[in-house]
Parts: sequence; C-alpha cells; structure tokens
Amino acid sequence: MIKFENVTKKYDDGTVAVDSLNVEIRQGEFFVFIGPSGSGKTTSLKMINQLVPQSDGMIYINGKEVSGYNIYELRWEIGYVLQQIALFPHMTIEENITIVPEMKKWPKEKMKLRAHELLEMVGLDPEVYAKRKPSQLSGGEQQRVGVIRALAADSEIILMDEPFSALDPISREKLQDDLLALKKKLKKTTVFVTHDMQEALKLADRICIMKDGKVVQVGTPEELIHHPVNAFVKQFVGDTARHGFEDFYLEELLLPVEDEGSLETGAVVSYSSSLDELLEKLSEHEQVTVEKDGEAIGVVNRQMIIQHLSTRLQERGISNE
Ligand code: ADP
Ligand code: MG
Repeated sequence: MIKFENVTKKYDDGTVAVDSLNVEIRQGEFFVFIGPSGSGKTTSLKMINQLVPQSDGMIYINGKEVSGYNIYELRWEIGYVLQQIALFPHMTIEENITIVPEMKKWPKEKMKLRAHELLEMVGLDPEVYAKRKPSQLSGGEQQRVGVIRALAADSEIILMDEPFSALDPISREKLQDDLLALKKKLKKTTVFVTHDMQEALKLADRICIMKDGKVVQVGTPEELIHHPVNAFVKQFVGDTARHGFEDFYLEELLLPVEDEGSLETGAVVSYSSSLDELLEKLSEHEQVTVEKDGEAIGVVNRQMIIQHLSTRLQERGISNE
C-alpha cells in the first residue's frame, strides 16, 4: 500500500532527519510512528504526500512511485490532520469539511450529506454545528472537525501528525475513542504520528519505533511489549507498560469461559501469574485460560490486556515526552 524503500531525508542544512527508512504499511492498517522529539516522525509522514520530498530512496503508493503522481491529486487523495488544525475562520464548519470535495467539484447536495454524516459520526449534531464558525467551537470540537475533514473526500489514506496532543486529557480520550470507532467502520489506511505510548497501544495495528531517523523496531503492540529488540524499545514500551504493575491482578480482567470444548491446551496460566508470565503466553496465543486450583475460572485475550495496559498508563499519566 505505502512502501518506503531505503528512504533518506537530508535537509538543506545537512540534518539527516530520516536515514534509510524501509517500512511497508498495509492496506487498511492503522500504522503508528512513535519516537522521541526529533526522531524523524513528521518528516516520514510528510514524505508520503510529498510535502517534503525525499533526498534518496523510493516511496510507493499502491505500487506506483509517488513522483509519478500529480502532486495536487496526491495531496487531495490523502487526508491530512495536523496537531493544530487550521480551520478557515471565515468559513462555516460544513464548508471547512467539504473543502476537498469542493475542489473535486462534487455536487452541492452530496457535499452537504457527507458533511452531515461525518458530523454525526463524531457526535456533533449537524443541525447545531454545520452552520457555525470555527470560533464557536471548543478546541476539542474543532479538532474533531479536523479529523472528519480528512475523511470527507473518502480518500484511501489518512495521515495524522499528533492530532490530539494539544488537547486536554478528556477531549483526547474522547477523540481517541471516536477514532477507534471510525477505524473499525471505515478501515482506511491510516498513518498516525504520536509520542504518546498509551495512545499508540490503544490505536495501532502496528507500531514503528523511531530514533535518530532510523527504525528501531516495527511490530504489533504485543510484539513490542513482549519482544523488545533492545533496551531503547524496552524502556520506551516495555518498562513503561510494566511500570507500576506490581499490583496487577489477573482476576480483574477475566472473561467467563464460554465453551469448555474450545480451550486451547497449553494456553493456560495460573490466576496468580505475573504480568510478565501472562504476556509471555499471550505472545504465543490469542487468548489464554486462567486456572485456579486446577479449574478454568476465565479467559483473557490480547485485546483486553492491551486495552488494560493502555488505560492504566493513562490513569497514571505516564507518557514518553
Ligand atoms: P519528529 O516529528 O520526530 O519530532 P522531525 O521529522 O520533525 O521529527 O525532525 C527530524 C529532524 O529533522 C530534527 O532534527 C529536526 O530538527 C530536523 N528538521 C525538521 N524539519 C527541518 C527543516 N525544515 N530543516 C532542517 N531540519 C529540519
Ligand atoms: Mg513531529
């Protein structure tokens, strides 16, 4: 879908922002770039729609090299959400949402329907919000409009650069939940940049950890938590995710055993297991059965544990900034 092949970006002042990037983002995938400030996340993202041209290497979208695309078409076809979304202040919310459809000369009625449908999707009543100006919305609401604007033209690819980092924790969580729902519904290929591990764990299908312009590791949340390739990843994901889990109780997470017959042999842990032991098992099995005194008392699956870790991180306000 999107393929970086030995991509390097050296800015005019000599800064090597991205160094031999090799990454393949799959169709429909929610792919997260994470890393410390200055690690090359934004540069990587901007090379996809060529807001920043690479110095070396090749970038392919659907098998076609990006330089082969008409640059304007490329940008229209790729939704883009920034940290500080710039809604046009003199235009209504509806007009802001339909900027790209307007450029694509969609019929008026279709544009209106689309704007209203999207507003509804993120819980903003079109009757109330469509005709308002951006200044009449809160920061969180404006950012929600920024997100749906990127979806308006139904582009196949959405790029998001720390879209929620300027928001207060409550709005941020609400928008993450919206995005999670949109993700399940729309299945767009999304490339999302963040420095917030909690956010990455919550949203990503796969995470790419960057440092000094290089990829340190690419993997699913489970892979990164359980099989960090080095101390940096471990510190960035593992230790962060595990920190403060001394009081981890498996019993809190249990789902009822629904079908005794389907229990996988081998995928069993004791109810007194540590988080490490549980993660070990979950790296091999999609779900595990929890036993107490030789009896199955419930099951835990990967999705739940990731969700749990993510929530706990959020509660503790741990982030990697
Ligand atoms: P991140 O998004 O991970 O914080 P960036 O991609 O913005 O990282 O930046 C990577 C490196 O490139 C940093 O060292 C940054 O200072 C540098 N950089 C970014 N944009 C420019 C630019 N326009 N000119 C020169 N250096 C830049
Ligand atoms: Mg950045």
